[in-house]
Amino acid sequence: MKRKLVGIGASPGIAVGTVQLLRWEVPDVPHRIIPDDAIPAEQLRFRNALAVAKERLRHISERVESKVGKEEAAIFEVQLSILGDPDLTRGVQDLIHQNIAAEKAFDIWMIESRQRFARAASPMVRERVGDLTDVHIRVLSLLMDLSDHAPEDIQKVPNTILVTHDLTPSLTVQLDRKSIAAIATDAGTRTSHVAILARSLNLPAIVGLRTATTDLRGGEKAVLDGSTGVLTVNPSHEDIEWSRERERQDALAEEENRRLLSLESITTDGICVTLRANVDLPEEAELAAQSGAEGVGLMRTEFLVLGRATMPDEEEQYRAYKRVVEAFGGKPVVIRTFDIGGDKLPIGGFPTEPNPFLGWRAIRMCLDQPDLFRTQLRALLRAAAHGDVRIMLPLIVTLDEVRAARALLEEAALQLERRGVSVRTDVPLGVMIETPAAAVAADTFTRDGDVQFFSIGTNDLVQYTLAVDRGNANLSSRFTPLHPAVLRLIQRTVQVGEGAGLEVAVCGEMASQPLMAFALIGLGVRQLSVSPRSVSLVKRIVRSISVATAEEAATAALASPTAELARRELHGRLRTALPELGLVEEEV
Ligand code: PEP
Ligand code: MG
Repeated sequence: MKRKLVGIGASPGIAVGTVQLLRWEVPDVPHRIIPDDAIPAEQLRFRNALAVAKERLRHISERVESKVGKEEAAIFEVQLSILGDPDLTRGVQDLIHQNIAAEKAFDIWMIESRQRFARAASPMVRERVGDLTDVHIRVLSLLMDLSDHAPEDIQKVPNTILVTHDLTPSLTVQLDRKSIAAIATDAGTRTSHVAILARSLNLPAIVGLRTATTDLRGGEKAVLDGSTGVLTVNPSHEDIEWSRERERQDALAEEENRRLLSLESITTDGICVTLRANVDLPEEAELAAQSGAEGVGLMRTEFLVLGRATMPDEEEQYRAYKRVVEAFGGKPVVIRTFDIGGDKLPIGGFPTEPNPFLGWRAIRMCLDQPDLFRTQLRALLRAAAHGDVRIMLPLIVTLDEVRAARALLEEAALQLERRGVSVRTDVPLGVMIETPAAAVAADTFTRDGDVQFFSIGTNDLVQYTLAVDRGNANLSSRFTPLHPAVLRLIQRTVQVGEGAGLEVAVCGEMASQPLMAFALIGLGVRQLSVSPRSVSLVKRIVRSISVATAEEAATAALASPTAELARRELHGRLRTALPELGLVEEEV
């Protein structure tokens, strides 16, 4: 029977395919007692499952090493060593010997190990719980014959619409991107990292479906629309036809976008709005450079850490940054220092926290790990020799952090000079305005010339201003960037920046959405950094409006008591300015 599941459109595009569920979670294991004479066969079944799991892990490790890199493959080496632990084999065999079925014996042993690791004093040991969980799922999927728990089986089906609870870094590196047509997850919102990753990989995606993994059984035909966030299960012939028509329309819009490539990003009253691209993976750089973007407004370097057990070294980082800089010729490339922690890619060796969004992440973590930070700063300074690199600091709340980061930047430069590497001393240092503290106290950064630019990170600014978790699907309707508090903070940042003669950009999701971009231009923002796919769309908005209209709309939005009323003010005016708004209507 046909059904529509509605989530949040996270990465545009339409896919027609077959649902494949990936339940990367420990299954319920029924307690099963076996008779004495079944014990030898059960022992054999356990040993076989271990052998197959090892074989699969070796295979994944080799594939990841050849396709992604040695460090990424290291995660699987850790899991292999867990499987090779003689204590594990002995412990589970003892339990089987007590007439417990193999899957239950393994389950009991792994639950106890995970609890022991989770209680460990050392954060390094606690971090291993994730690997233990992966091993737990992998072996149980074999013992219980659960093919929807095995990433490698899923990829045998062409045109897979992968439906999973969430996409963790270790799952992501295991997936063969070629066989996956689209992604749908229970968790996540437009600004959570699974959504950002899907956009980077150019895969249509819906997030925040909440119950898709329980509503679906796997094997259903489906149409996934990454723009509207609708997953149509068991679609009718007309649905499929309609989706093909949508694909044709998208192709036409793409063509129109290509026509815009060579045109300037200028309003009808002659004001330039610079459009830059957000780049998450170095491999995206060349394509992003062809999007018509005037440089990179945000490179999220934490994606270099994706799914790895160790941090990338200076040389590897340097090569990644240089690749992006060279792809963009002499155009500005804003590279943000590691924003790790919170929902951002926890990496091995760092503790998990009860309240990660307010925790030890981003600039806080970098300042407390000066070696790690200096390594990145050296790589950035070396890349700066190849173009117009600008360094940006995430999650700044106080000037002290900027000054401490500047001191480390100077130390990094000195280290390079000692090695005989000549370093530019004029690399601009900017801050992300993504906390209410930074926006309200923006003047503290400009007073003594400590920073050279601002970039407003609206994803976090909205989260921290409205106290709404950006990744929580249950709160997505409360994540309202047009709330008067957010608009006022943006306005204040622009005024302070302008007063000090600094560039003020917006690099959060808001900048990529037509209605919001219109509002931002009205608030005085003259630089937007958007996903490469959105450059043409936003350029179309810029070229269709006047700053005067945008300012009038922003004034009305600012005066509105709620986000919904602000939206109406903006929408009415944008529709008048852009009669062909129908083309972009669903994204408004
Ligand atoms: C933001 O917070 O708006 C931002 C651009 O950074 P990220 O989404 O990586 O947190
Ligand atoms: Mg942020």
